[in-house]
Amino acid sequence: MKILSPIEKIIHPLFSQHQVSVYVKRDEIIHPIISGNKWRKLASNIEYAKQLGFKGILSFGGAYSNHLHALAYAGQLHQLSTIAIVRGEPAYQSNPTLSQAITWGMELKFVDRKTYRLRDDPAYLTELQQRYPDYYIVPEGGSNQHALPGVGAVITELNQQLEFDSLLVPVGSGGTMAGLIAADNNQHQLLGVAVLKQADYLKQQITELLPKPAKTFNNWQLVTDFHGGGYGKFSQQAVNELIAFNQQTGLIFEPVYSGKMLLAALALIRQGYFKSGSTIVLLHTGGLQGIKGLIAQKRLIAAQWPIANSQ
Ligand SMILES: *Cc1c(COP(=O)(O)O)cnc(C)c1O
Repeated sequence: MKILSPIEKIIHPLFSQHQVSVYVKRDEIIHPIISGNKWRKLASNIEYAKQLGFKGILSFGGAYSNHLHALAYAGQLHQLSTIAIVRGEPAYQSNPTLSQAITWGMELKFVDRKTYRLRDDPAYLTELQQRYPDYYIVPEGGSNQHALPGVGAVITELNQQLEFDSLLVPVGSGGTMAGLIAADNNQHQLLGVAVLKQADYLKQQITELLPKPAKTFNNWQLVTDFHGGGYGKFSQQAVNELIAFNQQTGLIFEPVYSGKMLLAALALIRQGYFKSGSTIVLLHTGGLQGIKGLIAQKRLIAAQWPIANSQ
């Protein structure tokens, strides 16, 4: 099996002090701009849509969605049309994420928050399917059962790459976490770091996505106190820590997903959460395309994020 992304050992004084080995699974470099976990989640969805003879894929997302961005690109690559139901006003179409999605041929349909909230409602989905009969409908974030095998490949790759005790991953809609749980077969400690507030409901959402035998696995946990204020929210201090970490290690973590997982990992290591001698893997899920949008919104400073200028 082809290994999509390398692992890299991170050298950091905190890790030697606490006698843990920390590696990053570099899914952020699977593709120069597409988020690694979205790429993996879409792989089997695209195969499925093609097998069933659909002409395109319809999905949902916010105005800076890594998922819509990845879907637009993947659709163009696989000659599938793409339609996005986007939360918010049409003015968002000029932002870096959506303008790029448009260049890849994605059609955007803007809806208000109230309509967007119906995105998992069966009646609304039936109506959409009637309106777009040639489109396979994929939920927000790409998190459905077809996403699981694509993400599961992370575990297959890791098992060939190293021996490890714990794997950390950021959790938004839960599809990535579910794919890891299903593939890991109760072998490692899996820690999901929720990037949004009041995220306990995600435990059930993750369990629902799991195939039957995996529903009873007890090797995973959702950590819910590192959301940093809520989805898309982050403090200046968090940003400073990510920049300092970048200067120390050369690795780039953005503040919405992967950075929250990194900061959680650093905090847990400081607290002595991991046994001395443990090997910990951080799954870098990507999301770096979002940095440009955060700069455009003046929430990050371009000079501190050179990656945004290089794409
Ligand atoms: C979407 C996303 C996540 C969260 O994945 P889910 O499967 O929705 O939980 C994590 N990291 C990045 C960079 C993402 O884009």
